[in-house]
Amino acid sequence: MSLTRRTVLFAAGAAAGVAGAKWLGGSPVTGTAYPPAVDAAGKTVLNDASLLNPTPVAKHITINADPTAELIAQLRVELAEAKAAGRPFVASAARHSMGAQSLARDATALTLDQTWIEPDTAAGTYRVAAGARWGEIIRRLDEAGFSPKVMQSNNDFGIASTFAVNAHGWPVPHSAFGSTVRSLRLMRHDGEVITCSRTQNADQFNLAMGGYGLNGVIIDLDVEMVPNKRLIPTYETMAGVDFGTRFVEALKADERIEMAYGRLDITLESFFDEALLITYVPADDQSDLPAASGSGFISKASRPLFRHQVDSDTVKGFRWFLETEINPVLSSGGVTRNSLMNEPVITLDDRDPTRTDILHEYFVPPERFGEFVAACNDVIPSSYQQLLNITLRFVDTDTDSVLAYARGPRIAAVMLFSQEMTVRGEADMARMTSALIERTLDIGGTYYLPYRLHAEQAQFERGYPRAGVFVSGKREADPDLMFRNALWDRYMAHM
Ligand SMILES: Cc1cc2nc3c(=O)[nH]c(=O)nc-3n(C[C@H](O)[C@H](O)[C@H](O)COP(=O)(O)OP(=O)(O)OC[C@H]3O[C@@H](n4cnc5c(N)ncnc54)[C@H](O)[C@@H]3O)c2cc1C
Repeated sequence: MSLTRRTVLFAAGAAAGVAGAKWLGGSPVTGTAYPPAVDAAGKTVLNDASLLNPTPVAKHITINADPTAELIAQLRVELAEAKAAGRPFVASAARHSMGAQSLARDATALTLDQTWIEPDTAAGTYRVAAGARWGEIIRRLDEAGFSPKVMQSNNDFGIASTFAVNAHGWPVPHSAFGSTVRSLRLMRHDGEVITCSRTQNADQFNLAMGGYGLNGVIIDLDVEMVPNKRLIPTYETMAGVDFGTRFVEALKADERIEMAYGRLDITLESFFDEALLITYVPADDQSDLPAASGSGFISKASRPLFRHQVDSDTVKGFRWFLETEINPVLSSGGVTRNSLMNEPVITLDDRDPTRTDILHEYFVPPERFGEFVAACNDVIPSSYQQLLNITLRFVDTDTDSVLAYARGPRIAAVMLFSQEMTVRGEADMARMTSALIERTLDIGGTYYLPYRLHAEQAQFERGYPRAGVFVSGKREADPDLMFRNALWDRYMAHM
C-alpha cells in the first residue's frame, strides 16, 4: 500500500472521529497504581489501567494479611454485609484490566495485596495467596532456584487475577497460566470455602479459570514452577505473513526452547511486512545464576524512544532497526528466565496526561496468520490510533476454561495503542476494535476479554461460543448475583 493511500485512509479514519475533541476522564495517574479518589459526594472512586472507568463504590477494603482462618472470617463478614445491603462484591489486585472487569458501581470492592508464598521444591509447586504480585513471587522462587512455569509479561499483577483472566505469556510450549494451576480455594457467595481442581469441584475450577471472579473469591492457589535457568536467545527475521507457521515449526523443531516471542514492523510504509522471532534455549553453563534483576538498562533507556513513536514513522523505523539489527548483537549473552519475566509496567509508562495506553489482543490459528496480517493492514493504519508495539506469543489449547480463548493452538497478537483521551479518540477506538474483532472471528480466531468492552454482543457470543454455559453455571453458583463487574453487566447479565 502506498503512503498516499495510507495518508488518505488515515485522514478519513481521523475525520470520522474529529467532531468534538472533548477530553475524557478525570486526572490520569501515571505508574502502576490507580489510587482511590473521592468524589464531590464523598464517595470513594476507583479506576482501572485504562483511566477511563472512574467507578464510585460503596466500600473499599484493602487486604494484606496471609490467607489464614482470620482472613477467611473477615471476608465472610464483608460478603454477608454486602449481601444484606444488596451490593455487588468484586475482588481485584492491581486493576490493570481495562474495561472495569475489576469494578462494579456501588459495590464492596476488595483489593488484595499480599506476600504469602510457600514453595515446595520437592513437589515443584508453590502455595500462594490470591493477591500476591508476580514481582514478589519471582523474588521468592528465584531464591529457591525456581521460576514461574507460565505468567504474563509484566510482574505487577496479582496471581489470582492472572488465573481469573487466564493470562498467558512467553514461556513455551504451554497453554495459558490456568494450565499450571493444580488447585485453589474459592469463597462462594454464602461464605463457604471449597477446594477446586481438575478432580474436585471441577465445574467451579473451570468456571473460575478465565471467569473474571464471577463465581467467587479466590483465597489461595497451588501452582506449578520449573527450575530457573540461564537462557540464550536466537533471532530470526521472516515475512510477517509467514510468522504463524514458522513459529510453530520452530517450537516443534527444538524442544529445548523455553521462552519465545515475536515482533512485527509497525512503520506505516512496511506495516507488518517483516517479523522477528526470538527463541531462548538453556545455556550450556548453568552455574552461578545471578539473582533475578529488574528492568534492564536497555528497557529503561528505550522508554523515550518507545514514546516518540507516536506520529513518527522515522522513530518506528529506527526502533525496528534497533530490534532486528542491534539488539541481536547486544543481547546475545545469557539471561535467566526470572530476569526475563521480571519487568514492571512502569518501564514504558507514557507520563502524558492527555493520552492513555490501550491494549488489544487477538488469538489466531497459526496457519491463518497471513490473513490476520492482511486484516490489520486494512483496519489499523486507516484509524486514528497510534500502534506502538505488537508482541506475538504461542498459546497451546486450553482444555479447561469454560470461557476459553485458545480453543486450539493459537498465535496471540498483543497490541499496545496510544489513545488520545477524547470523545473522538474513544469513538474511533471502538470502531477500530470492532472491525478487528470481526475480521479475526472470520478467520477462526477470537479476542481477549480483559481490555476495553468494545466488542458487539454478537461478537462476544461468536468469540466465546460457550458463553451460555458459563452464564448458566455462574447463575447456579451465585444465585443472588453477588459477583458482578462491567464484563458481566455488558455481555452476560441479560443472556
Ligand atoms: C501493561 C499490561 C500488560 C499485560 N500483559 C499481559 C500478558 O502478557 N498476557 C496476558 O495474558 N495478559 C496481559 N495483560 C492483561 C492482564 O493479565 C490482566 O489485565 C490482569 O487482569 C491484570 O491483573 P490485575 O491484578 O491488574 O487484575 P485486576 O484487573 O485487578 O482483576 C482482573 C480480574 O480478576 C478478578 N480477580 C482478581 N482477584 C480475584 C480473586 N482473588 N478472586 C476472584 N477474582 C479475582 C477481578 O475481579 C477481575 O475480573 C496485560 C495488561 C496490561 C495493562
